[in-house]
Amino acid sequence: MPTFVHTEKCDGCKGGEVTACMHICPHDLMKLDVERMKAYNQEPDQCWECLCCAKACPRQAIEVRPYADFVPMGGTAIPLRTDSAIMWTIKFRDGEVKRFKFPVRTTPVGSIDPYGGKPPAGDINSELLFTEANMQLPTLSS
Ligand code: SF4
Ligand code: SF4
Repeated sequence: MPTFVHTEKCDGCKGGEVTACMHICPHDLMKLDVERMKAYNQEPDQCWECLCCAKACPRQAIEVRPYADFVPMGGTAIPLRTDSAIMWTIKFRDGEVKRFKFPVRTTPVGSIDPYGGKPPAGDINSELLFTEANMQLPTLSS
């Protein structure tokens, strides 16, 4: 099932030019009906159900069929993402609801150092890869 927008929850991202779901969709499928300020999937056949828009939506308005490896057939899954965690609300087809919360990062927001613990980049013209810059490579001997 491609994305499905619960219109009673969608607020059109409060009138932003590009909504969260439009911004994040790798296939450019989500569109905002500016008259109603409601988003919708303009080409459902092309949706690969990646869940990106559902995770990005600040209103939990988007539903997508969850994969069978984490939700039994016929269930629904709605994610709620914060800076540090994601909580999945799973509704099973018998009506039972369960929530699972997982951390999504190991460092506080804004504190990551992408080069931390890595060797200096070295000479940009070198044939060595970035991570090989300070390594002792074996030499061929005859
Ligand atoms: S599930 Fe993925 S491909 Fe489908 S509309 Fe959302 S972001 Fe786009
Ligand atoms: S991200 Fe959510 S609230 Fe914002 S426009 Fe899309 S469906 Fe509506």
